Amino acid sequence: MGLILVLNAGSSSVKFALVDVDPQRGERELARGAVDGLGQSPRWSVRQSEGAIDAGQPWLEGALVTHKAAISHILAWIDQHHGLNTLTAAGHRVVHGGEAFTAPVRLKAENLADLRALTPLAPLHQPHNLSAIDSLFELAPTLPQIACFDTAFHATMPVVARNFALPRSITAQGVRRYGFHGLSYEFIASALRDKDPALYRGKVIVAHLGNGSSLCALDGGKSVATTMGFSALDGLMMGTRSGSIDPAVIFHLMREMKLSSAEVETMLYQKSGLLGVSGLSADMRVLRAAAPDMPEAREAIELFTYRILRDIGSLIAALGGIDGLVFTAGIGENDAALRADILNGLKWAGFALDATANENGAERITIDGSARAYRLATNEELMIARHSARLMAEQAK
Ligand code: ADP
Repeated sequence: MGLILVLNAGSSSVKFALVDVDPQRGERELARGAVDGLGQSPRWSVRQSEGAIDAGQPWLEGALVTHKAAISHILAWIDQHHGLNTLTAAGHRVVHGGEAFTAPVRLKAENLADLRALTPLAPLHQPHNLSAIDSLFELAPTLPQIACFDTAFHATMPVVARNFALPRSITAQGVRRYGFHGLSYEFIASALRDKDPALYRGKVIVAHLGNGSSLCALDGGKSVATTMGFSALDGLMMGTRSGSIDPAVIFHLMREMKLSSAEVETMLYQKSGLLGVSGLSADMRVLRAAAPDMPEAREAIELFTYRILRDIGSLIAALGGIDGLVFTAGIGENDAALRADILNGLKWAGFALDATANENGAERITIDGSARAYRLATNEELMIARHSARLMAEQAK
């Protein structure tokens, strides 16, 4: 079995990883890179696992780089360094699988139309994911392509966790909670199964805190509730997204403040969250540095922390208790102060912080006898590679 090319295409970038998931050789990431600044000033960077970083070169100066041009560049790089014939399949991160796709699928012409039909559910993300798939079908028509969905892991949520209190006719048209970050939660669940099997079997909340942030309640490794909803705008406060707000605010913005729906959408997705509240930055590192002298930065961090604590409380109720908590993604993995504030706010739920372990970046960050908390690195690319390799192996049987 060969290598899996993992692709994650967004509005302005195509990220990739080259992963070896051979059962005999074990799992190994060979390279990871990206074309950023699509449509503006594209940059190419790649890091080989064994070797120097080849980073930050301006690329195709002045050219309007499309997803297809970016993928063509990635394929050329792979051909030069590893040979294209080493690829078994390409696995794509696809944001929305709707009601139909609750597991990874091998893509064929007929299910592409089904995926395209889901675009209205994720208009800001799905078209870019699909554009990468279309491009790869043109550039490498014989390479099998597999779609892995951010929503799929939440297919195990019970009906009460996924329905909104809307008229049945609306729910029947797919207006419901789907949840996102599923590949990250699935990876963390698999990591817990190896590191702490007893906890894996119990009730765990995973906090994926990055540019996008959400929480997932796991019972026996399965998603039973999550904070993101119909879209990735719901739930926690994020870097630039508002998270949950009273929906009547939207009517007010449109009716009284005369904003268009596009302006409201831009405000809620791109100008709110840490950026909007601080007036400074969406980046937690910048806010931490500014906080001592800037009340707005402190307020943004306090609100971010408060919202996480409130929603953790809600998920503990949904789970009927809690055995453990896992922090992951950019903020969850790197911001020790936030982890400490959250765990100190959860003493009532049985958590007791190990301050030294937390500050030293250890995996286990609570003391013996406490409900267990971990800091674990997520790896969505590896999850996609595993799914893709498994699907190819099953089809070869
Ligand atoms: P994405 O959701 O785009 O995958 P990441 O998971 O990479 O994002 O998270 C990015 C965020 O992580 C950054 O915006 C930054 O706020 C935060 N971050 C990264 N390093 C640190 C750090 N050392 N301390 C606090 N926050 C950090």
